[in-house]
Order: sequence, then C-alpha cells, then structure tokens
Amino acid sequence: MSLLHKYIINLILNKFMIVNKKVLYLGSNSTDTDLQVKRLAAQYNVTAHGLIESESFIPNDPGFYHTSLTDLNSGAIINLAKYFDAIHLLDQPLDQWSHSKLLLTTYRVMVELEKLGHETFYKNNTNIQKFINFDHLLKNNKSFCIYPWINLVEADGNLNLCARSAKKINTTAGEINWKTNPEYQKIRQAMLKGELLPDYCKVCYNNYENKNIESYREFETREWVAKLDIHSLEDLDKIERPYYYELRLGNKCNLMCRSCVPMHSSLIERESKKFNVIHQSTKSIKYSSIDIIDVNSLTSKTRVYLTGGEPTVMTEVYEFMEKCIKLKKVDFDFTLGINGQKISKKFLNLCSHFTNMSFSVSLDGYGLVNDYWRWGSNFDTIVKNTHLLEDQGHSISINCVPGIYNVTNLHLLFEFLDQEFPNCGLYLQINHISEQSVFNHPNNSLVVKSMEKCKKTRAYYTDGKSVKTCIDSLYDHYSNDPVCDIALLKKFFEMNDRLDQIRNVRLKDYIPELDECRKYIV
Ligand code: SF4
Repeated sequence: MSLLHKYIINLILNKFMIVNKKVLYLGSNSTDTDLQVKRLAAQYNVTAHGLIESESFIPNDPGFYHTSLTDLNSGAIINLAKYFDAIHLLDQPLDQWSHSKLLLTTYRVMVELEKLGHETFYKNNTNIQKFINFDHLLKNNKSFCIYPWINLVEADGNLNLCARSAKKINTTAGEINWKTNPEYQKIRQAMLKGELLPDYCKVCYNNYENKNIESYREFETREWVAKLDIHSLEDLDKIERPYYYELRLGNKCNLMCRSCVPMHSSLIERESKKFNVIHQSTKSIKYSSIDIIDVNSLTSKTRVYLTGGEPTVMTEVYEFMEKCIKLKKVDFDFTLGINGQKISKKFLNLCSHFTNMSFSVSLDGYGLVNDYWRWGSNFDTIVKNTHLLEDQGHSISINCVPGIYNVTNLHLLFEFLDQEFPNCGLYLQINHISEQSVFNHPNNSLVVKSMEKCKKTRAYYTDGKSVKTCIDSLYDHYSNDPVCDIALLKKFFEMNDRLDQIRNVRLKDYIPELDECRKYIV
C-alpha cells in the first residue's frame, strides 16, 4: 500500500472515530488556541464550541472544546476531563505561551490525566519533548539534580548545593570560579553517572523520595528545565554562571514557630536564652551577605530567593530592593519566603516597582492550628495581607509544612485554599523535626479521614511541589495501621508543654484532637 493510500485511510479512520465525540484541547492563553481548534474542527467537520471558562460547565454536544490553565486551575481541568472522550495538548511553540511554567503545568496535567485513565494525546508534541526527556532522566538516574548547574547558595560562611544540602562545599562565593571549581565539577560528574551523594542530598532521598513524595531534586529540575528552556545535558554544560541565588540573610523575625530554632528566629533566640529552652539546634550561624549578588547581572531568567528570619522586617531586604530600583534591575524573578504577618506601606510600595515578584507565604494550618504552631501569627491577618500582595499583581504560592499539628486537619486548609486562593500554587515541605514528624501521629483513622478529604479538593492537584504525592504517601502510610513511636510522641508533648507553660497557652484550646493523644502515652 502506498503512503498516499495509508494517509487517506488514516484520515478517514480519524474522522470516523472523532465524529460524535467530545474532545477537549488544552493550549496556551493566546488567540492561537482558539484559531487552531477552529481549524481542526473544520478539518474534521465537527463543531468548535469555543473556550470553557467555568468549572461547572458540562458539555452536552459532541465537538471540539478548549481551555487553558489561565482559565481553569489544574484541579478544575482534571475534574472537567470526565465529561470528555479525549484530551489533546496543542503543539504550540514556547513563544505562544505567556510563561514557560504554564506549558510545564499543562504538560503535568496531561501526565496526570493519562494516569487517571483518560484518553490523552500529547506525547508526540514537539513542545514538551524536553520535559519527557528530563522526566526520563529523573526516573532512571536517582542522583541527577539540576541545582549544581544553576544554583549559588551561601550559608554559614560556605557554599551549599542548595538550602537543604547537608554537606557544605568548602569555599565561599568570592573565592572560586563557580563553573570550574573542582568540588562542584566532581559533584556534577557523580550526578551524571547516577552515583548517589547521601552526604549532600540525604534530605531529598530520605525525607521525600524514599516515601514516594516528589523531592526538591525532581520538582526543581523540571521547573528550571522549563524556565531556562533546557533541552539536553549539553545545554546544561553551556551554563557559565549561576541563575539562582538563594540567601538566608539573618534571623530577625516577628514569629516564634514551634518548629523553628534560634538561628532562624530572633524571638526564639531570646526566649530560649531567657527560659533555658533546649532546641534541636542551638548553634549560631554566619548569615549570607547580599553582596554576593551582582545586581547588574540580573536578568529575567535569574531568580533571587531571600529568606530569614522574616524578609519583610529585615533592613537588608529593604536595602537590596532600593538598590535594584536605583539600578533599574526590576525584572528578575524575585521571590521572598514570608510569614505574611506584617506588610507595611513602605514594603508594598517597594514591591510595586518589581515586575516579576513572587511570594511564598507560610500557612501551616487552618485558623487556630496555624496560629498555635506559627506562634505570634494571626490567620486572618495573613489572609488579608496575602490578598494585598495578590491584588498588586504579584504571584502567590502557599507554603505549608505537614507535621503532627496539622496532619488530622490538613483538609480544612486545602478546602479553604480552594475557596480563597484557587489560583495559587501550594508547596508542601516535610517537617524535619523528628518528634513533630507528620508520620508519627497516633490516631491513624483521623489522619486517613483528613487525607481522603484532601484528595477531593482542587488544591490536591495544584501545580506546586509535592502536594499530591505527599497526600498519597500519608494516606498509604496511615491506611496500613502503622505503629506510633510512643517515646517520640512523649518527647513531643514534653517540649510542647514546656513552650505552652512559657507562653501561657494550652494546646487543648487550639488543637483539641492532638491534646487528646496524650492518652496513647502509657
Ligand atoms: S538533590 Fe536535593 S539536596 Fe541535593 S542539591 Fe538537589 S535539591 Fe539539594
């Protein structure tokens, strides 16, 4: 059979298969999406029904429909998919997408839809081949992480692969050529060979991947492949300077979170000295200097992430922002990890100069759960301040740490986020303090119920980090009736009661279901 015959038969078969079907196309937020879908509908002689903008929309008639992640969030699209016979991703080049992240998230929605058993068409698209290639690499090489090729982190007087890396690189930013430094090169080569580096990267291996939770290694590699339009390992080799500066500038803070330590909060430092509280870590560290950033070299592809302490109350952050405004460097990806408790007019005014600003706002529970764990904060104030930043056009994501305080009530936060911040990403970060571990709550059935409710929310499918995998991992863990480490639970109550005594509060007034767990200690 000639190629022409094959082509004609395929065309007839395709037409036959597509008539009477409801097909959803996912695309960019440009007019090209509508044009392409109309063109395809004409080609197959079916109706083009246009854009779906509402989650409650139900398609009644066969034909072609389209939507994008700027019209509906990931969870809404996944919910909508059940009304369609097939879902296609349009093969639009990167310049048709308003932001590279939009293409990445749409690709990830397609992957999820395929896992859920929908008929999907996207794998042959040119526009997502780089994501498929790096997904393949991440799956088959458990060591590879993009950070050593793009990241410059200085902490405690040394360079680090990232803020979570356990072993320092024995030098400072001013002393080395970041590209050619032998220790960096050795790490890069080991990662390319797939040799695990537990001394540096045990947080990703142990806290995340061994528990089937998406790790920083996996999430950040995908994010940076999209951001820098990296297609291959050869592209990585061409990178000559860092694109990501992640700096902890000091410990000045206006909160006293129960998972925090003196080196990260000046108020906790003061409290622990006054009342002789022994925290998991009491060491003091050398903070990063903002001067390692060459402001003049910042471009729209560079990310600066500042944390503390609390950046909104740190003089260094204000000075850095003023310097950038003065030098007219305001279009780089500028991200602050904040607690949302205090947003001054001066701060808002400075932020208004930056065109690519994001906030990672910490919320560790709904209402009183957050206020108790993140002591000194007020849930309603954080929500109000987050809206202020959102209304100014800044990008917002919510950062939440699942732990013993919130693992039985996490669904309340997820349900709240669905209503209040439906378009914000959610990031889950595993608690590193063993006695507050999210995997050591004694009431298994209560956790399972909360996880079941989380799974029904849109936030469960957010394009943020670790959310779905973390909820699934917790659900699986607690469904298998794990045995709680009672010695660890006892240690948790001892430390928590000590803080309650100093702060003159009672756990049972904030999280009664956790207070009731004292009965498990025999
Ligand atoms: S693997 Fe994890 S710990 Fe290691 S550099 Fe990457 S993100 Fe950091």
